[in-house]
Amino acid sequence: MPPVPPPQEDPRPAAARARWRPRRVLIARSARDSAVAQRARRAARELGAEVVELGGDAVRGLAGRNERETYRNAKATLAIVNAPPSALKFAPIPPSADFRLDLARGCPAHCQYCYLAGSLSGPPVTRAYANLDEIFAAVPAHVGRGRITSASAARSHEGTTFEASCYTDPLGIEHLTGGLSEAVRFFGTQPDAGLRFTTKFSEVGGLLGLPHNGRTRVRFSVNAEDITRRFDGGTARLADRLAALGAVARAGYPVGLTVAPIMPIEGWEEAYGALFRDAGAALPADADLTVELITHRFTPGSREVLLGWYPGTKLEMDAATRTQKRNKFGGTKYVYPKELMKQMRAWFEEAVERELPGGVVLYWT
Ligand code: SF4
Repeated sequence: MPPVPPPQEDPRPAAARARWRPRRVLIARSARDSAVAQRARRAARELGAEVVELGGDAVRGLAGRNERETYRNAKATLAIVNAPPSALKFAPIPPSADFRLDLARGCPAHCQYCYLAGSLSGPPVTRAYANLDEIFAAVPAHVGRGRITSASAARSHEGTTFEASCYTDPLGIEHLTGGLSEAVRFFGTQPDAGLRFTTKFSEVGGLLGLPHNGRTRVRFSVNAEDITRRFDGGTARLADRLAALGAVARAGYPVGLTVAPIMPIEGWEEAYGALFRDAGAALPADADLTVELITHRFTPGSREVLLGWYPGTKLEMDAATRTQKRNKFGGTKYVYPKELMKQMRAWFEEAVERELPGGVVLYWT
């Protein structure tokens, strides 16, 4: 696949430019009467997508004649299904939040470094969950039991936190499912809990007037502009993400920047400096802002999947230039060498302090 070309002028309103238009929407039998399925049918009709009412719950029919075609079929398909019982027991998800809360699994965008590669198996179809009431009903049993914000003096005001973007980009499918708005409303009623999500999309209009009560932190996944242009396919332009960041902050949401994946490209200090200056200019002075700093890494498995999806990628994934690290399960990941990491960390922490005064760096990894 050739590198993603620079965005062209688009006559649509800025926030709608990156709106995903699936070719097919599959509705699982057990989810067919849900509000999410009803919304998805309506949106699919408006977008000209085919709606298929499945006779059962299995999501099939994605296989193409080769890996590329299977990828294209899956990325053009939204399935509305019920979350399995295992998704109702929320797993810990350090360092971002106490627990993972999935509204969906899979993402329609085409980022060439996607962190889902290697962590989700099978064709990369987006499965949006319909049994939201069951998911939200599982929240109270987790409140007070987390080890990240719940156990932190500095962050305890956030309550027990639930991260909704571990396996999806919830804003990227919101125009089809409405699940994110439901979650924001639900957490608005939970004084001891908080929702967090991060996104590379920008269509936030539907979130601005919701009764969020400050219990949802909306973060935008951003990068140096050159990296977003070269490697983020099917997402909102950086300028649109930053405009959306300002809009949700002005609507009273706590906000955040997820700077990821950080890469020491040529001139990285200038490139990331410009990112922080633009973010600062988009934000109101009183924004409640956190910053997460995540460097690029890959595993042998994710590298193999990504090279299958994006065979022409220019993304650097050369194990010989990286440091090998083992995780607690014995797996291997490749990160930047220690000295470079130290140098970049010092620069990023100082740059956040300089360009985004009041912004709190949550972690560097
Ligand atoms: S937006 Fe996030 S989840 Fe979606 S393809 Fe890009 S990196 Fe992957």
